[in-house]
Amino acid sequence: MPELPEVEVVRAGLEPFLTGRRIAGVDVLDERAVRRHEAGAADFVRRLTGLELGRPARRGKYLWLPAVGGDAVLAHLGMSGQFRVDAPDAPLARNTRVLVDLDDGTQVRFVDQRLFGGLSFSPGGAQLPPEIARIARDPFDERFDLPAVAAAMTARRSTVKRALLDQRLVSGIGNIYADEALWRARTHPGTPTRLLGARRARAVLRAARAVMAEALAAGGTSFDALYVHVDGERGYFDRELAVHGRLGEPCPRCGATIVREAFMNRSSHLCPRCQRGPGTAAIRPGKASSTPGRGRGE
Ligand SMILES: [Zn+2]
Repeated sequence: MPELPEVEVVRAGLEPFLTGRRIAGVDVLDERAVRRHEAGAADFVRRLTGLELGRPARRGKYLWLPAVGGDAVLAHLGMSGQFRVDAPDAPLARNTRVLVDLDDGTQVRFVDQRLFGGLSFSPGGAQLPPEIARIARDPFDERFDLPAVAAAMTARRSTVKRALLDQRLVSGIGNIYADEALWRARTHPGTPTRLLGARRARAVLRAARAVMAEALAAGGTSFDALYVHVDGERGYFDRELAVHGRLGEPCPRCGATIVREAFMNRSSHLCPRCQRGPGTAAIRPGKASSTPGRGRGE
């Protein structure tokens, strides 16, 4: 699942190709990719054709293409959405869903294997599409108010990881960077937000911004082969992750064995020594706590 750095890589990758270009034509190869446009594919094509595009914009994990005149095209990357920029006669990649011809003769292609993503026309959405109006500013937004978000976080009845993932509080942080930020800030994901304290809440948010900035510099995390940059090159920051996906490996800071704990319907990876907290259901490799008969005497 792309998180903020991956989406920003896509946004920045599209920028030189799209900014100032006019849409000369649109071809919807698979109507499922425009299902969010309720008036249908033909209307989607009609609305987009002729639009003059500005600089691609992003908030959190959401990407949109503002147009001159105030409308926008909203892109949902979902689990596996990608853009490719190609010559119109270049062979189509598998799962290419929508073709957008630009006035300079290039073609932008929306590719999506799993089809959780898609494109929609957002009337009046150039500044901020109404569909994502409830999404909070992300830590890279120049108007992101870190102390205010930290204060809002500690005022909640929640746990720190849940709060970090709540896109209405702070956007763009997903499971991977939440784990990395909490490890960096030496904070257990299950820590109640009311016990966090303003100082630690700020430290967690700063850590989230830092890990995402590093991911961005490295080109985005990609452990999932479905995610490809706009130019087809894969990200490689996954090797730099300290805890996420590293069950059983040593903590890069203290050497203790990284554990995994159940979190909602996913999991958290953490260092049980650096991140002491209320969690008790740690799964250690080779010690499946649910295996009957193994717990005795340990
Ligand atoms: Zn550690």
